Amino acid sequence: MIIKPRKIPLSILKLRALLRRLPSNHPKIPLIQQELSKREAGYKGESSLDFYLSFLDEKNYFIFHDLRLQDESRFFQIDTLLLSKKFALIIEVKNIAGTLFFDHVFHQLIRMKDGMETAFPDPLIQIQRQESQLKNWFTKHKLLEIPIYSLIVISNAQAVIRTSSDNRKLGCKVIRREMLPSKVNQIEHSLKETLLSEKELKKMLRQLQKQHVEADFPILEQYAIGKNELIKGVICENCRYFPLLRRHGKWICPHCQHVSKDWHLHALTDYSLLIGSAITNAQLRNFLNITSSAGATRILQSMSLSYSGTNKGRVYNLFFDRK
Ligand SMILES: [Zn+2]
Repeated sequence: MIIKPRKIPLSILKLRALLRRLPSNHPKIPLIQQELSKREAGYKGESSLDFYLSFLDEKNYFIFHDLRLQDESRFFQIDTLLLSKKFALIIEVKNIAGTLFFDHVFHQLIRMKDGMETAFPDPLIQIQRQESQLKNWFTKHKLLEIPIYSLIVISNAQAVIRTSSDNRKLGCKVIRREMLPSKVNQIEHSLKETLLSEKELKKMLRQLQKQHVEADFPILEQYAIGKNELIKGVICENCRYFPLLRRHGKWICPHCQHVSKDWHLHALTDYSLLIGSAITNAQLRNFLNITSSAGATRILQSMSLSYSGTNKGRVYNLFFDRK
């Protein structure tokens, strides 16, 4: 049973919004594009696991995707955590193409592709660290101690996995995605004792859900981009022209003549991703490129947003649900 479903990560949404809102000649676009491609590949790799996880018995296994928990002052993130009454399994997904060589002498993952070698941090060290962080987390939250296992799942079907002949044990830790269901069953059968009662399991599931903290970061700050560098106005969803004109409560594209009632929602989603979720009437007018304060009020009211303050000082909370 999936307790915490997968959502498009906030980082991807923010990067996409930033690319939408930068003029096409902005010098930081290649850098942002590169980061977005990397994150999208990771997300695609993680999503590709869903099919294989669906072979597991829903009643026995509880799944959390993209879980981020606090360990003392730091956070640790787990791609997928699988929990049963007998054990916990940390799954780290790597969607890397090419020939992957696990070097256990220097603890690095070397990727060979198109005649080029690239080094990545050793994912085995990463999952070891996650195991100990999760163990501490269980203790800190007064949860029963259950065995914690971890696996690196190579999600790229074309990747070739290699290591040196004296590192045969690697096969216990690094698997291809299609091996995941049988690996989980193998762990399940190796453990005789059911450690958690129904009540303790529920407590653990509840705590994990409650303590998850989504990673958020001010993206403009990260890329040292000023608000004034962003494209303002509502963008045409049909031909990408901007800014659209507002006439009689509708958005009109002067380029392709498309008309829409609610394309400001896209612009305000961008605002909340890039600038922040709090907006005043004046800030909304500035971002949507409109002059009428009454028109801005109508837009804000139509969205039934929660707010604080009165009159000109009123601040609305932009909150958009994500798939
Ligand atoms: Zn248009």
